[in-house]
Amino acid sequence: MIKLYNSLTNKIEEFKPIKENELSMYVCGSTVYDDIHIGNSRPVVFFDTVARFFQYMGYKVRFVSNFTDIDDKIIKKANQEGVDESVISERYIKSIKETYSLLHCLPHYKNPKVTETMPQIIEFIQLLIDKGGAYIEDHDVYFDVSKAQDYGILSGQSIDKLINGARIEENDKKHNPCDFNLWKETEVGKKWDSPFGAGRPGWHTECVVMINDIFHGKIDIHGGGLDLKFPHHDNEIAQATVAYNNKIANYWMHNGRIDLAGEKMSKSLGNVVWAKDLVQEIGYGPYRLMILNVPYRQPMSFRDEIIVQAKADYEKISKARLSLARKLQIEAGIIDYNTEIKNQELIELENEFKEAMSDDFNTANAITALLHTVKCVNLAVRNKELDLEYSKELMTVLDKEMWVLGIDFKIDALSEEDLDLVRKWMQARSDKDFAKADEYRAIITKKGIII
Ligand SMILES: [Zn+2]
Repeated sequence: MIKLYNSLTNKIEEFKPIKENELSMYVCGSTVYDDIHIGNSRPVVFFDTVARFFQYMGYKVRFVSNFTDIDDKIIKKANQEGVDESVISERYIKSIKETYSLLHCLPHYKNPKVTETMPQIIEFIQLLIDKGGAYIEDHDVYFDVSKAQDYGILSGQSIDKLINGARIEENDKKHNPCDFNLWKETEVGKKWDSPFGAGRPGWHTECVVMINDIFHGKIDIHGGGLDLKFPHHDNEIAQATVAYNNKIANYWMHNGRIDLAGEKMSKSLGNVVWAKDLVQEIGYGPYRLMILNVPYRQPMSFRDEIIVQAKADYEKISKARLSLARKLQIEAGIIDYNTEIKNQELIELENEFKEAMSDDFNTANAITALLHTVKCVNLAVRNKELDLEYSKELMTVLDKEMWVLGIDFKIDALSEEDLDLVRKWMQARSDKDFAKADEYRAIITKKGIII
């Protein structure tokens, strides 16, 4: 049973899919006017791990994340560079997708873009107007929050409180200070024709439309960073309530933010660590362990110590995997390890990992469980006599756990020639012919064979 914390009810709940053994999940993506920093990469890595865990549990997973490719910031950057907005947006979509692969994320089911969803967005805004949930003022369209039942339900704010706390700006066309923009008439930047006037959509509408367009109804999980909970996600829910009489997803999940040694990370403060740079520097294994070492709902503070810890853990894990794989190949000629787990001790080892992940995706405990598996691997490798069946099963458990956390890697099998060399070296050692053993060892090292 998978349990997760539902931000909509503020409770730990049992996960019940809409369709048996299927997961539909949507996570709000980036506005593409720049690369992603480590704070933005937390939901990327975390929800990829969630998708991997569901897949491991036998689910067919459809994980969608969008690109907001039209926005004031994109237009501003395009004007500064004297290019079309699409030059900016395509540049960063390409770069962000590269970062996703560098972070070893599974390919998403779809990455919809706003500019490719425009007819559906316009149609949706019209639907909100027809249903009385939106109004037109001077070619701009606003959502009327008083028409949405339970407005603010996700962030737990009452509409009266929100209205009292909201700033009313002069020349505001809104009927209510909490109303938000669905369509705006624009002078600058790219615009699209619509029944309300030539312009472009506000930010809060695209996700609702994309979800409905791709999944045709309610989904299982909607995720994103905690900073999106209000107003973005509350506004998404408000629109879906009026348009479709649903709250988009059965489960809402929000990850905590990452600060930089106690300070908020932001481009305006100039203290940004780019995900791309850091992953290229330390590798995806340590990077993902660094993110997953902290349970996702907790805030995370980025400091050198967490990189040091993640690097040390990763080295332990990867070394253990390599030694066991080599031992299996050298002693039994096996390079394919996927086998059924029958050994009771190993079943329990895998269960410890599974239970950690099923407990609201407690990745920190899952890493601890993985390190227990690593301990067993080290014992098995040190054992003089290879227990073949046990070692094959152990390798399978290790591989599955590493795959779920996204820190799996391929090991190339040794060639026959190299294998022969290693066997000669081992033989010389056991014959206590140390001069010969040293000779072989030197060749092995020179050839860069890692044992
Ligand atoms: Zn969204």
